[in-house]
Amino acid sequence: LAKQRGRNNVQFYTADLQARMSRLMELENALRTAIEHNELCLYYQPQWALVGQRLTGFEVLLRWQHPTLGSISPAEFIPVAESSGQIAQIGHWVLKQGLAQLARWRHKGLDTLLAINLSAVQFRSTDLAEQIAELLESYQIPPECLELELTEGTAMEDPAQARLQLSSLRQLGVRLAIDDFGTGFSSLAQLRHFPVDTLKIDRSFVQDIDHDQGSADMVRSIIQMAHNLGISTLAEGVETARQLQLLQQLECEAIQGFLWGQPLDCASAETLLASKNSAAILP
Ligand code: C2E
Ligand code: MG
Ligand code: MG
Ligand code: MG
Repeated sequence: LAKQRGRNNVQFYTADLQARMSRLMELENALRTAIEHNELCLYYQPQWALVGQRLTGFEVLLRWQHPTLGSISPAEFIPVAESSGQIAQIGHWVLKQGLAQLARWRHKGLDTLLAINLSAVQFRSTDLAEQIAELLESYQIPPECLELELTEGTAMEDPAQARLQLSSLRQLGVRLAIDDFGTGFSSLAQLRHFPVDTLKIDRSFVQDIDHDQGSADMVRSIIQMAHNLGISTLAEGVETARQLQLLQQLECEAIQGFLWGQPLDCASAETLLASKNSAAILP
């Protein structure tokens, strides 16, 4: 019986592995034509300064709607694009579309900041700064209106190299943010040498601050450490008024989260941006 069960487990395991492999291949194939078939689009999640409840900008979030596979999360397809090499093209597309949208808003007198995610592979590419300089130039975007986000994990893969890349991006005048902070293993010593403007505190800590002392302590020390280094903080994934209140007490500068705004399509983001007093829209 045990033998029988063991064999079944192996079969289950194999079937599961095969299913996952074929899903990966299916996604990789479908991704090849996603751009030309217009299946990708950008959403914009509002970012707010806590002082004055002011809209400061939007994080650009990539969306993929496939005709038969349905909507696929970036958390699933970005890693696929990274391992297949397609991320170079997709990452460039995101930068280009984001900056083109920002240029259209600026032409209407709507000024804002866009925060754009960089994948690990994109961050390592040697012509990244050049690509960004060209895009800023062709859309006539002031560099301080663009913030580039890289995750703490990406920064820590090779801290010395990351420092160099961050410095060359910084020289362009763009803003820099470390995303998902708290999930990696950066030391204070390393962080000191990163020329970044913002630490984005990972949602996993933010979600627990109202009921778990450990998470609250963690968030408090991240904010203090950032402030000692002259870096500002943004809390990700704020969903409740209680979380917001605690973050305010801890003197976190900014938030992003479902409480004050889901990722919006382009038209809704524009409406928010155009409303004279966007804070009045808050619940
Ligand atoms: P991220 O950069 O940390 O983005 C924040 C994620 O948290 C987004 O998920 C957003 O929709 C979600 N979120 C925001 N507020 C809340 C909240 O209050 N509650 C909850 N539960 N979730 C919230 P999304 O859009 O599914 O993106 C997932 C990840 O995919 C992103 O995490 C980022 O790492 C990656 N990603 C998205 N767009 C791009 C892109 O254009 N390029 C690259 N390289 N990665 C991207
Ligand atoms: Mg991000
Ligand atoms: Mg994040
Ligand atoms: Mg994340």
